[in-house]
Amino acid sequence: MNQRHCATCLRTAVPVEVKKVRCNVRQFRDRTFELWRCVGCQSLHCEKVDDLASYYANYPIREQTLDAFVRSWYRVILRRLLAAGLRKDHRVLDYGCNQGLFLQFMAEQGYARCVGYDPYVEAYRAAQVLEQRYDFVVSLDVIEHDADPRAFLQKLVALLAPGGALCVETPNAEGILLKESEEYLHAIHAPYHEHILSQRGLEQLIAEQGLVNVAFYDRWYMDSWLPGAARKLFERLMLLAGNDLDSGYEKPRFDLFWRHPSLIFYLFFGYFLPSQKRDHMMVIARPRTASSTAAVATTTRRMRPSNGSDSALHRA
Ligand SMILES: [Zn+2]
Repeated sequence: MNQRHCATCLRTAVPVEVKKVRCNVRQFRDRTFELWRCVGCQSLHCEKVDDLASYYANYPIREQTLDAFVRSWYRVILRRLLAAGLRKDHRVLDYGCNQGLFLQFMAEQGYARCVGYDPYVEAYRAAQVLEQRYDFVVSLDVIEHDADPRAFLQKLVALLAPGGALCVETPNAEGILLKESEEYLHAIHAPYHEHILSQRGLEQLIAEQGLVNVAFYDRWYMDSWLPGAARKLFERLMLLAGNDLDSGYEKPRFDLFWRHPSLIFYLFFGYFLPSQKRDHMMVIARPRTASSTAAVATTTRRMRPSNGSDSALHRA
């Protein structure tokens, strides 16, 4: 096996694991891509694809709308931001905001100073928002799409006002089992996810930028108590419908509920039987101060809650 260079920890070594994984978008489901895992930081990397832009031409995620389910998931994020000190007068930037659904939600909740940036969306392309500084910079499921995660994180940190907080949500390579790739297909999302960071990889990048974690969540935010919005339900529905990402954005197949009665149980109680997967993570970090330095070791040691609860570590 040849040596590869890790874009996360910069180590060059023979990968610890290599596997071909299929694309989870229906149009390209017959195409496979090579994923490899860095022996140093455990991050996953997808083979380079020359015509990546063509894969985004009919991207199913663009079909998402701000419905009751999406609102219930965004409420999870809002609760986490509030726990990290978010106030209504704070300036918030959603970096990589796509169609601006999270911004719409925040406006509904009375957060009037939220703006978005997304170089691939006409309405959010204005570079002026990058000339401001923000109390919270939020980036949801974006860094894994970037060709250079180190430079990406650097850009986010440069947008923080003094004492501002960074919130990054992304798949966690340490929780993805390549051997069971069909189970983890949507977190892998090849070839769209170019670099899937591990927890230790993301923490290393954050520390290099002079930040320290104030909260870490390993339960995916897309898992809510609202009937129909539990991860257990929609993942099972997608699996039974062929396990393509597209099915998550189409009308649910009600016939599946009759053929698989367990789905009716998950419809109402899925949230209370949380998924054991730890393939997503959300980190909230702030610039390191003299008082925070001493607490870093404790935070790192206690970072992984084992009961799958929506828990985190917070420091004042
Ligand atoms: Zn690495």
